[in-house]
Amino acid sequence: MKFITFSEYCQKIEETTKRLEMIDLITDLLGETPAEEVKFMINLLQGKLYPDYMGVELGLAEKLALRAISRATGLPQGKLESLMVEKGDVGFVAEEAAKLKSQSTLLSFMEERSELTLREVYEGLEKIAKASGEKSQDLKLSALAGLLSKASPLEARYILRIVTGRLRLGVADATILEALAQYFLGSREKRPLLERAYNISSDLGLVAETVAIEREEGIKKFRIHPGVPLMPMLAQRMAEPDEILEKMNGKCAVEYKYDGERMQVHKVHDEVYIFSRRLENITHHYPDIVKLVKGHVKADVAIVEGEAVAIDPETGELRPFQELMHRRRKYGIKEAIEKYPILLVVFDCLFVDGEDYTSKPYIKRREVLKNIILEGERVKIVESKVVMSTDEMERFFIKAIEDGCEGLIAKDVTGKSIYRAGKREFLWIKLKRSYMSKMIEPVDLVVIGAYHGKGKRKGTYGALLLAAYNHEKDVFESVCKCGTGFTDEDLQKLPSMLEPYKIEHRHPRIETGMTADVWFTPVRVLEVIGDEITLSPIHSCGKGSVKPDAGLAIRFPRFTGRYREDKAPEQATTTKEIVEMYKNQLKRVE
Ligand code: AMP
Repeated sequence: MKFITFSEYCQKIEETTKRLEMIDLITDLLGETPAEEVKFMINLLQGKLYPDYMGVELGLAEKLALRAISRATGLPQGKLESLMVEKGDVGFVAEEAAKLKSQSTLLSFMEERSELTLREVYEGLEKIAKASGEKSQDLKLSALAGLLSKASPLEARYILRIVTGRLRLGVADATILEALAQYFLGSREKRPLLERAYNISSDLGLVAETVAIEREEGIKKFRIHPGVPLMPMLAQRMAEPDEILEKMNGKCAVEYKYDGERMQVHKVHDEVYIFSRRLENITHHYPDIVKLVKGHVKADVAIVEGEAVAIDPETGELRPFQELMHRRRKYGIKEAIEKYPILLVVFDCLFVDGEDYTSKPYIKRREVLKNIILEGERVKIVESKVVMSTDEMERFFIKAIEDGCEGLIAKDVTGKSIYRAGKREFLWIKLKRSYMSKMIEPVDLVVIGAYHGKGKRKGTYGALLLAAYNHEKDVFESVCKCGTGFTDEDLQKLPSMLEPYKIEHRHPRIETGMTADVWFTPVRVLEVIGDEITLSPIHSCGKGSVKPDAGLAIRFPRFTGRYREDKAPEQATTTKEIVEMYKNQLKRVE
């Protein structure tokens, strides 16, 4: 496929404000892509070369990018730097530079149809991403200049955005899955089939390639591969033990909910890989856990999940979540291991020696867990108990809190209690400490817009427009405008922190009755707490689920100081959860 075709679609996608239109555009683009190139196309559409878990990042520095543009077009560096100030986007600078070049060589860029292919661009970008060592800067520079010298202005725009890690078309995984289902399986209704393959492989490019070449048959044959992370199963939330027990038909297991970092640990013979909740490969931060896994997981090949918690080296007591963050560093890992030791509490097992346990019920998985984990001072199997009364659940809850945990996770124990990768359903339900108090628990919301500050806040933002995630509709629905809880330091850094996500118009995946001074692609997640949830005529969160024509809003929202960098926007609090919280709140008042 020609790269110009891809670029033209990127432009159309960027300009649309409607999600369905976006799906149709991607479907049309799939129609133009040969099956063996679908993988590359889908990856590029998301501004990447490989699935995230591989950790290969395209984030070429702006300076180097400008040097490559200068080399390809002959325009002086100074001219490009001032264009950069004027346009504020390295893609537009490259586009403009390419136009100027074609004018100066008397070639109209309209006539000069570029011959660049998608594969050529992909391979060029691969060279740039993989260049390492002493000469890496030179290699990157010449590879990029080489691509640019063949590119038309529009192509130059997108090559530059991709290579600097700033494509951000805002095309969500779910949107791509729908387009794939529509084009290759004949209907968007078939998205769940593709979603399952995606949830066990975390590789949209691979799913796309498989369905393009092997259609439904290939997708049905998708299997777990140790070393490749699965999307984590997530928990719903409920406020009261009796509700949970009712939902679980009178019987469930309850486990301590540790406040740490989730880890998906893959042991593949002598190798160990650790993936975070967002599926980053975080193995290099935790050589101590690698060692523990080698000594305490008694299977040759296994995938287990657990929570890593910081402990007090003196007393062995659990420490707060924040302490773990000291371990996410580049240097001084050895010292950090000593200063901030970790306990790994294992709670699930997904794969053992060739057998996929995700389709086995909870009780079976726990039995296997007991067989393969050798417990020790630093590796434990989660505290768990099967309960049949709220009394028992409450007592276990109090014990969990006393032991330094956040609360409980109740787990279904019936035959249907399989491990649902990537799903947030009622097979797991969390009960946190804050639910038991009068105030509502904090929620994780996505920044979708902002308002310019006035007076003391001139030059920064006065408030942010925040949204919850509607999973069914795959959109972000506004739930509050929040200007409280930000320290001076927060306020100072907000504009630059949000700058990369600025867009010209409301993003197609945002739904709100509010207007904002500035709109953002929904990416950043913040933790917010409020006084109560109220009905709202303008916020669109859960619109119509409580009263027709009314949405829900958080009253008196305050930023808690916690930037949830560990959460993707789709992992933010869902509108469904906010509706539940609203209903529970009413119950509490009654
Ligand atoms: P939340 O992050 O509030 O959605 O809560 C779910 C998280 O709790 C999971 O992603 C795990 O990181 C963590 N967790 C702690 N203990 C457990 C447990 N026993 N079972 C499952 N998840 C747990």
